[in-house]
Amino acid sequence: MSNKLIDKFGREINYLRLSITEHCNYRCFYCRDDEHAPNCKREDILSYEDIQRIVRLFAELGVSKVRLTGGEPLIRRGIVKIASLISSVPGITDMPLSTNAHLLGKFAGKLQKNGVNRVNISIDSLIPEKFEKITRGGDVHEVIKGIDAAIASGMSPIKINAVAMHGINDDEIESMIDFAIEKGIDIRFIETMPIGNAGIEAADQHMSEQAILAKISQHLEGRLIPLISKKTDGPASNYKIKDTNTTVGIISAVSNHFCQTCNRVRLTAKGDLILCLGQEDAISLKDAVRSNLSDEEIKQMIIDAINKKPEKHEFNTVVDNISNRQMAEIGG
Ligand code: SAM
Repeated sequence: MSNKLIDKFGREINYLRLSITEHCNYRCFYCRDDEHAPNCKREDILSYEDIQRIVRLFAELGVSKVRLTGGEPLIRRGIVKIASLISSVPGITDMPLSTNAHLLGKFAGKLQKNGVNRVNISIDSLIPEKFEKITRGGDVHEVIKGIDAAIASGMSPIKINAVAMHGINDDEIESMIDFAIEKGIDIRFIETMPIGNAGIEAADQHMSEQAILAKISQHLEGRLIPLISKKTDGPASNYKIKDTNTTVGIISAVSNHFCQTCNRVRLTAKGDLILCLGQEDAISLKDAVRSNLSDEEIKQMIIDAINKKPEKHEFNTVVDNISNRQMAEIGG
């Protein structure tokens, strides 16, 4: 059995995005329907043992990067223990976290000590009332405390991610860049993606990569130095901002297909392995690890699944509901 996961288009899969809970303490309007409440019992969710075994099997197949995401990963009980279990799996050398940072003030130091080496923090506005409205109840002051705690913990790099939306926060692109420069951290603007009903409704506010870049360029007037994108950058184009410690980028999964360099798969909190963000296909690794299948048999299942990874996602700004899953379930 090969110790690399190579799909039928020759792409090496070495990155697992692991959602550890469907629950979130925020309810961003573009991510989750207002009335959506995850309905899952404790036994539906991957246990510590399930997670550790699945990550070990992926590591034996060449995966070296595992991102902790959700829902909101910091509200999963035992998050520090989960981080420590994953980071102790031989072969896992990179364990980033995606979080809204509401609880990061409490957890940043402990997570850093348990293997979380870097963090992406979602923040769509710096204006408290607007932030509260977008997140349906969030507190931007807590998020900023979380960002400061991440900086103090030594995690690096720290990136803030803002979903850029016409008529919502497009007037804050400049101030958010200045905020990132002041903190000495990186910033990415994300195009809205039509995932789930909430995401499809947010397509009305979609800002293209071109429109976002025009605003960034105008603000930074010749201070943008294009960075050569690494194969692992995913759907992002990145720039260094001259005379700062900050990079700025645009994650344009809609305007651009970066699928030919896709190196990732996703595992939901319920243990479904999703091969592509824009498609329905999934296999249950939870059922597999709770059956009497051997490690070798489960690894073969993973290899067979990877072979079905589609060549590219099918979404553009205006689509039918290509996936019924909410972004919060998939883990973004
Ligand atoms: N709670 C964590 C967080 O806030 O980063 C992790 C999960 S969240 C689903 C991951 C990312 O997906 C966030 O940056 C969020 O803004 C983004 N996201 C959610 N729905 C989206 C959509 N429809 N289009 C683009 N990005 C979306």
